[in-house]
Amino acid sequence: MSTYDTDPILESQAELTAASHVARVEAGRKSVVLKDRFGRVHRSMRISVTDVCNIRCQYCMPAEDVQFLPSASRLSYDQIVSFVRVASRCGIQKYRLTGGEPLTRPNLHELVQGLSALECVRELALTTNGMLLADQIDRLAAAGLTRVNISLDTLSEDTFKTLSRRQGLNRVLEGIEACCQRGDIELKLNALVLRDVNLCDVVELVQFSRARNLQIRFIEFMPLDGSRAWSNSRMVSGQELRELIAREIGPIQPLNRPSPSAPSTDYTFADGSGRVGFIDSVSQPFCGSCDRLRLTAEGRLRNCLFGREEWDVACQLKTGAIDEAEIVNTLQACTQAKHASHGIAEPGFTPPERAMYQIGG
Ligand code: SAM
Ligand code: SF4
Repeated sequence: MSTYDTDPILESQAELTAASHVARVEAGRKSVVLKDRFGRVHRSMRISVTDVCNIRCQYCMPAEDVQFLPSASRLSYDQIVSFVRVASRCGIQKYRLTGGEPLTRPNLHELVQGLSALECVRELALTTNGMLLADQIDRLAAAGLTRVNISLDTLSEDTFKTLSRRQGLNRVLEGIEACCQRGDIELKLNALVLRDVNLCDVVELVQFSRARNLQIRFIEFMPLDGSRAWSNSRMVSGQELRELIAREIGPIQPLNRPSPSAPSTDYTFADGSGRVGFIDSVSQPFCGSCDRLRLTAEGRLRNCLFGREEWDVACQLKTGAIDEAEIVNTLQACTQAKHASHGIAEPGFTPPERAMYQIGG
């Protein structure tokens, strides 16, 4: 486990040790709830299965010389399933597989199958750039996957190439089409807008989604790019996009959040056709209702995208016989150390060492 920082609200080491003891006892009773110091109960987890990606989005990865983890250091599917079995007994019911590009990892459907067979897993979703999806969606759906988010930032091959430094928009569109045709996948599109690259694509993206009865959600650009080139001026706020969409397409009205921890604020068009969502992580942070933990591909547990601490669960999963209480203890410690907010707007903020593809978005 990494060291605790000196946040005054954080319990003393002695209190944490006592909390660990409680966790161990409670693990035996299978009644642990992952509640943090601010009363947030944690119910969802993002699991990165790899940091490898087949494209190089400007807002996520450096352009060149990307150093990926050695494949031997990634958690195996069995280890991930073992970990989720314990986490799900601590109240984590919703899981999303991500990366890097999760579909670059061979046989991802085997992991989906292992996870969807676990009793306490209520929701299992995938976030993907869609390029390898058309080939895999049938296997993934047969294994139990029911929710997919596909990243789609543009409908222009030229802009796709500028943004992702690779070609292949047609493959993304094939992935979207393959999901739509099945009819049993809850599909959403995610778009990230950089002012100087794809702001001019927003209207077309909304019309594309609306025509297919798909929800598109716009994610604000966060300082998590591998090139460390984030700037406020390149980020386009949700508010600016809402004004643009209302002006260019038609009035939109906010909908009630399906759950307080949902990151997206959803809107519907006043004429009732089509939904668009906004994940305003920078301009209107939703940390107060965040219920997420994150597991990196090499088995480090994190409590925030912007956190500076990580808890090593890989070492706890490498031994033959897994000590459940030890893993529960780690989940508790990680949850307890979570800060009130990501602090992007605070003076002296510096981005975390890891970029988005190394954490799992
Ligand atoms: N490769 C998959 C994909 O692109 O959907 C999954 C991993 S990717 C890191 C997950 C999400 O993170 C994508 O929707 C992407 O737009 C988002 N993302 C990447 N870098 C980001 C950044 N700097 N700020 C906000 N969102 C980011
Ligand atoms: Fe790859 Fe997704 Fe990052 Fe783009 S956002 S570089 S697709 S991991």
